Amino acid sequence: MERLSVEQRFSDIDYNIQYIKERINEAAIRSGRDEKAVKLMAVTKTVEPVFINRAIENGIDLIGENKVQEFLGKKDFLKLENCSAHLIGHLQTNKVKQIVGQVDMIQSVDSVKLACEISKRSISAGIITPCLVEVNIGGEESKTGTDYSQVLEIIHEISEMPNICIEGLMTIPPICDNNAELDKYFSKMHSLFIDIKAKKLDNVNMNILSMGMSSDYERAVLNGSTLVRVGTALFGHRIY
Ligand SMILES: *Cc1c(COP(=O)(O)O)cnc(C)c1O
Repeated sequence: MERLSVEQRFSDIDYNIQYIKERINEAAIRSGRDEKAVKLMAVTKTVEPVFINRAIENGIDLIGENKVQEFLGKKDFLKLENCSAHLIGHLQTNKVKQIVGQVDMIQSVDSVKLACEISKRSISAGIITPCLVEVNIGGEESKTGTDYSQVLEIIHEISEMPNICIEGLMTIPPICDNNAELDKYFSKMHSLFIDIKAKKLDNVNMNILSMGMSSDYERAVLNGSTLVRVGTALFGHRIY
């Protein structure tokens, strides 16, 4: 792969942010919503702080990281005064202690056991940790996330726990080769989100429906997403 200069990458990032925001706005309007109804998250895994800070200086106010260790290693170099950070990758129970209090939200809660640990560590830290419940909408064995059939039950249990607050749902749909199939998963998630919201459960907010990545964020917005998580389309291909 061709190595780009720092200046070239900066200008690509600036351009991509504007371009992605325009496409999100168009899709939001097409879905009958306000352009402010959809939030753009920049997914920053493997991206060096200098490029993340460039994005933050040019219109990004929410970043997402996958790994606890990677995020903690980069955090001190990031300009997060006016930017929130969420954990979006799978979280192991034994890493909860390190991440609670370090991010503004954990989007990848997929078990009662994990939620219980987040609750416990949040009590110790004297904070409330906002979370999303991750749903394995395609029922794929290889994927993390709560089974569709168990989402309500898990939400009920978590809602009883102190110092953890559910703010919505997150999903990564299966790889689809056509829009119709993709729409099926996204709309199933949206229906679930609306159904749970209508129940008005105590200590449960359904404000955020986190779905859509580089290849499918427009379809996600057309199907009701309120937060899209975009990495590659914003920063370029990841080099591991
Ligand atoms: C990597 C990642 C993304 C972003 O993926 P891109 O295809 O690069 O936009 C979004 N969500 C999660 C959970 C991820 O791990």
